[in-house]
This record gives sequence, C-alpha cells and structure tokens, in this order.
Amino acid sequence: MIKLSSRLNGLEESVTLAITARAKAMKAAGRDIIGFGAGEPDFDTPENIKNAAIKAIKDGQTKYTAVGGINELKDAVIAKFRRDNNLEYKRDEVIVSCGGKHSIYNLFQALLDKGDEVIIPSPYWVSYPVMVALAGGTPVIVKTSEKSGFKMSVKEFSASITKNTKAIVINSPSNPTGAAYTAEELADIAEVALKKNVLIISDEIYEKLTYNGFKSGSIASVSDEVKKNTVVLNGVSKTYSMTGWRIGYTAASKELVQAMSNIQSQSTSNPASISQWAAVEALNGPQDALDTMVKEFEKRRDAMVDGLNGIKGVSCFKPQGAFYVFANISGVYGRTFEGKALRGSADIAGYLLDNAGVAVVPGEPFGDDAYIRLSYATSLKNVVEGVKRIGDAFLRLG
Ligand SMILES: *Cc1c(COP(=O)(O)O)cnc(C)c1O
Repeated sequence: MIKLSSRLNGLEESVTLAITARAKAMKAAGRDIIGFGAGEPDFDTPENIKNAAIKAIKDGQTKYTAVGGINELKDAVIAKFRRDNNLEYKRDEVIVSCGGKHSIYNLFQALLDKGDEVIIPSPYWVSYPVMVALAGGTPVIVKTSEKSGFKMSVKEFSASITKNTKAIVINSPSNPTGAAYTAEELADIAEVALKKNVLIISDEIYEKLTYNGFKSGSIASVSDEVKKNTVVLNGVSKTYSMTGWRIGYTAASKELVQAMSNIQSQSTSNPASISQWAAVEALNGPQDALDTMVKEFEKRRDAMVDGLNGIKGVSCFKPQGAFYVFANISGVYGRTFEGKALRGSADIAGYLLDNAGVAVVPGEPFGDDAYIRLSYATSLKNVVEGVKRIGDAFLRLG
C-alpha cells in the first residue's frame, strides 16, 4: 500500500458532500427525497452571464490568461469594491482564483508558518480549520452560541489572542448559521485586531444575500488602517448562482497578493478564461436576477424558520443572511426510534434521511453537535413539505 503524506493526518472527506451524495443516490434509486443539504443556490446562472461566456468562446478567449486574472475582471472587481464597499484597490492588490475556496486556500498557504494560530469563531465553515492545518497553522476555535446570535464578542476575541495569533476569520453572513455582524460590531472587532496586530480575514461570499434590508458593509471599510489590516475574500459563486464556474477573488496588500499569485502560478495558473469573462458580466451587468433571488430566499427563510420553531424539540434562530438555517435539535436527543436512542446531529440527519425523506447536514462538522444545518436553496413548496415531514418524523419517535 502507498504511504500517504502525514499532511493528510486527520483530513476527512467533507461531511456535507458525503450526505448530499447519499441523498442523491437515494433519489436516483427512485426515493422521494427533499434536499436541504445544498450549499449552492438552486437558481440557474442568469442568461446575460451565460451569453458572455459563449461570446468569450466565440471570440477565442480560450487561452492562458495572466495568472491572477484578466485586467477586465480585476477592474470589474475594483469597481465592485468601490460601488458596494467604498473601498479603493489597485490592480496589484487584487487576485482572481479558481473559486472562493481556492482564494482562501492560497491565502493560508501564503500566510502561515508552523505554530501560527488562526482564530475561527464556531460554528464555522468546515473548510477553514482544515485549510489552516494543511498550511501548517493551528486553528483556534472560539465557540459562540445562539444566545449571542452566533456572534463572537470582542471580549471572547481578546481572550483568544496569544503571542502566536496571526489572523482571525470573520465570515459574515455566516455559513452555517446565517448570522451577520452589524457595522458597529465589525468596527469593534477591527479595533481589537488592529491594536493586537491580528490580521483580519473577511470572507464576504454571502455579502449580497441578506434579508429585511440588513446591511453591514465590509469590515475593511471601517478605516484606512483597518483596510490595510484586512484581507477581503469574495466571489461570484453564491451571488450569481455560479458555483460551477469557479471564480473567487481576494483584495489585500500588494505583497500578499504577489505571494498568493506565486503559489497560484505554480499550481493552477489562471482561473478558466471563459469563466473570467462570465464573471466580468456578472459584476458589471444588470443585477435584477440577484434581486429576484434574494426576495425568494427571504420568503423561504421565513417559512422555514416559522415551520421549524413550530416543532416540539426544535428551536431556530432567524438568520440575517446566506441561505441556511442552523436549528437546535438537541430537544429531541434521547428520544428513540426502533428502540435506539438518537444521540447527536449525525443520528438525527441519518434518521431524517431514512425515515422522513429529508436530507439535512449534521452540525457536528461545523463545530456544534446540538444543531443541524438546513439549506433553503430549494423551492418554497419543498421548504414547507420538508419541514412538515421533519415535524411528523419527530412525532413518531419514542
Ligand atoms: C461557498 C463558500 C465559499 C466559496 O465557494 P466557492 O464556490 O469556492 O467560490 C467560501 N466561503 C464560504 C463560507 C462558503 O460557504
């Protein structure tokens, strides 16, 4: 047998992808499954974006590009930051990568040495701790609770800083909780980070998916000093239903962007040329498809939260953004099915998939086993039916 690298110790397949695969297989076998596992919008990529890609192919934009992206896309990103976030960047402070995930991966590779600590508030996106560890760093998890809206307080942040702390990851709105920090909360965090010389890594991939008019802006826009101490990560995947196109981008200091570009030049080279042209249209073109999607998501969120809160043993926080609900199901723990007690989020997810035909994601890999994550990136009809099935399935427990 081949001996694999020790770097892979403890690295597991993403649980989110695993349960989605099982649900898909059951669906393919003819089972009626409602999927709340999706980590991507269920809307199609808007037509104007697809057409820009087709045009790029026809125009022969099918060769290598500059490693960090074509100037047209860098300029579209720069214009986006100016328009939405009141932030000014130059071309050499922006790099385009093969998806937001790739942006974050390259960032950690460029940033971390052995022993460097990265503060990650939990619940967290499953990939952060793994990517920090792969880069040789040490993830430091700061647990937040539903009581505080799944947000880290300045006090908790300060208490988790050591002499080895290199950076903090802020993901607002958050996957998996949908929680979002207000502008004031971001300013407070930024102040501590500046004072303690902790780099802010702000994953703003769900920036545009917020509800009831909630808006916080980028943490980088707090002040010029804060901007210099912040790396902003964003992308087109979630905002424009472009998960398959693989375009993410980073804004940071010239030095850091150059380092990320060097890593990218020796690994993937440029993101797909055609996707880059599609992303130019996504950022510069009409935004009405996004507006339609946000309105629809808001309706589904309300239906899902209200429905879940009506189920005995379930309680659920109303998120400000993203397209997930993080529901506390620990009230059901200890109840039995066929004589066996359900004891954790994986038990619940398995039970709901097998006995209710509903796919949800256990909260354990996101850092809290008392919860399950449900995505409302599916029709309102499915949301209503799926929540009803969960309620019925919990009623059947012993
Ligand atoms: C989806 C997601 C990303 C990036 O996704 P890509 O498809 O790689 O662009 C980044 N951060 C979070 C928290 C996400 O949920």
